[in-house]
Amino acid sequence: MTRTALIYSHDFSACSYGEQHPFKVQRYRLAFDLMTEYGLTRLPGADIRECGTVSDADLLTFHSPDYLKRLAEFNCSTESRADFRYGLGDVENPVFPGFYDWTRLCTAGTVEAARLVTEEGYDCAFNLAGGLHHAHRARASGFSYLNDAVIAINRLVAQGLRVVYLDLDAHHGDGVQEAYYDTDRVLTISIHETGLHFFPGTGFEREMGKGAGKGYSVNVPLIEHTDDALFMKAFDEVAYPLIAAYGPDVLVTQLGADTFRTDPLSRLEITTHSYSYVLRKLKALRIPWVALGGGGV
Ligand SMILES: [Zn+2]
Repeated sequence: MTRTALIYSHDFSACSYGEQHPFKVQRYRLAFDLMTEYGLTRLPGADIRECGTVSDADLLTFHSPDYLKRLAEFNCSTESRADFRYGLGDVENPVFPGFYDWTRLCTAGTVEAARLVTEEGYDCAFNLAGGLHHAHRARASGFSYLNDAVIAINRLVAQGLRVVYLDLDAHHGDGVQEAYYDTDRVLTISIHETGLHFFPGTGFEREMGKGAGKGYSVNVPLIEHTDDALFMKAFDEVAYPLIAAYGPDVLVTQLGADTFRTDPLSRLEITTHSYSYVLRKLKALRIPWVALGGGGV
């Protein structure tokens, strides 16, 4: 029997980026309620697990000490704060009370998901509040403050494990690519809407990694209005054979749903047909699997 863990906390939805901000954290609660109503949380072998905590030492495996210090300082501030050197306090990445606690919780969920598939025998663990893939080493970006995927993958790599990171969000997984651009210990693959006129403006096919990492950063930029047929072809002909050839110990996927045809921020035309097709094929690989959420309004 397949064992799956859903990482969930009601606190995922206990803050706000602001009334006008497109990133609505209540989607986590809505998604959880929907999954519960569908009976998905009561399937045989399905457990709901809590996030746990993440240490400063874990965060420091990617983020800079001065950036983390600034996040902690702003977290407790009662007046509005901004530091544009770190991408903090603008319209995109607002500073609000408890924002650092919130992003740490999301990161802890991803670290726990990785622990469950490597230490507790789960086949798949899903943190729907993970996948904040735009966070850079010392800069918030794209609604992301801490890069949960990188923090969790760094732990796996420290244990000697080889990891594939597959990013299906409509946006390029730039923060994760940046973390592993010069190493072959993590293969990153991102399929996304082209950055020609779209945030974050990177993720072109010529970005292939450097040094020991050359060939281990893979990008498939898709033109606007790409549909299911082309999306599945990109997955089948690029991502799937590369995952199989690399032979990872752990698969980490960012499954942002902003590729969906009705998403207001992107111009891809993907439907649930592609999602179910891709996820069935990934499941069939039977690689310990850390699944993360991502974008999607
Ligand atoms: Zn996105």
